Amino acid sequence: MENMDLKYVMHTYARNYTYFVRGKNATLFDKSGLDYIDFTSGIGVCSVGHGNKKLSKTIEIQSKNLIHTSNLYAIEPQAKLAKKLVKLSGYDMRVFFSNSGAEANECAIKIARKFGNSSNRYEIITLDSSFHGRTITTLKATAQEKMHKFFNPFPDGFVYAKDLDDIRNKITDKTCAVMLELIQGEGGISPLDKHKVQSIAKYLKKKNILLILDEVQSGIYRSGELFASTLYDITPDIITTAKGLGGGVPIGATLSTLKDIFSFGDHGSTFGGNFLSTSAALTTLDILSNLKENHKLDKTIKYFNKKLEKFQKEYCDIFTQKVGIGLMLGLRMKDENTLKTLIHKAHKNRVLILKSGKNTARFLPPLTISKDEINEGFKRLKKSII
Ligand SMILES: *Cc1c(COP(=O)(O)O)cnc(C)c1O
Repeated sequence: MENMDLKYVMHTYARNYTYFVRGKNATLFDKSGLDYIDFTSGIGVCSVGHGNKKLSKTIEIQSKNLIHTSNLYAIEPQAKLAKKLVKLSGYDMRVFFSNSGAEANECAIKIARKFGNSSNRYEIITLDSSFHGRTITTLKATAQEKMHKFFNPFPDGFVYAKDLDDIRNKITDKTCAVMLELIQGEGGISPLDKHKVQSIAKYLKKKNILLILDEVQSGIYRSGELFASTLYDITPDIITTAKGLGGGVPIGATLSTLKDIFSFGDHGSTFGGNFLSTSAALTTLDILSNLKENHKLDKTIKYFNKKLEKFQKEYCDIFTQKVGIGLMLGLRMKDENTLKTLIHKAHKNRVLILKSGKNTARFLPPLTISKDEINEGFKRLKKSII
């Protein structure tokens, strides 16, 4: 299989040739039957765990009835999902569905550009170390110059701010929006300061500049709330989300208070919001909102955080700091090499973790992870230290 993969698939990923064949909640099994504790949930995607029976039942039934008809005809689960997202968010918004995080952000950028069009404003300010996607436009929105090498020319109109304080310096009479991750996912799991975010949100409102929150990673209860914006107590103009929304089925969503910004033909997607992805997302949201309502999610968050904190303190010579919110967590390490070794050893001991930024070990477990899986995962992590 490895040879076939290497021969026919483009080499864009530094793949690990472990052959996973099935999963149960936060546990993956390889083809020889060995179990792995999954603290990654496929990079924040498998929010309801692997092999979720409710989700697989929905996908089974929906795929037998209809997978896709195009957006030229009514799609009931799409309307239901939009209603559920809006109701659960508490915001007065409408939704556009796409297939990925980058596409959700593309839609947000188009909304911002159309909003600024009549006043000739088109600049969007993003933050240093941000990550907004891999398409040419969202890559340019990603304020990491090292990722831009080779791909010039890019669309104009993206301006980078060093930090929240620097945003005010970067605003011009061309600025139409500011796009932020409240918790930078790829940039080191760094939650932004709440008071600074509130202050900049207020300032932008006064200046008639849109606030876009990229919640592709932090959204869908990853922070403990449907959107991290609730924790920050702000009302953005646009929220984008994707990763955890479909429980593994590709889907992206852009929510906006500018409910009538687009006219027919301004935007669209062939696959976006089809029967399969929206019915899967509807079931995923059902499972997760129940988990939130019956306080199970809060308990899991508390337990995981306690274990992680204890682990950090026990090995404070290796882990300098615990960072993150909810189940979007990280441990800062001394340097890149120690992190690389840890991820490698952890994999050998059959617990999966991720990297974020240069030197942060990242934890994005399924939101349904059990106490036993958490305990087992940390036991294996400890073994990976010595
Ligand atoms: C993953 C991610 C994206 C890109 O999502 P894709 O589905 O890979 O296009 C964008 N923004 C943030 C914050 C992300 O974490």
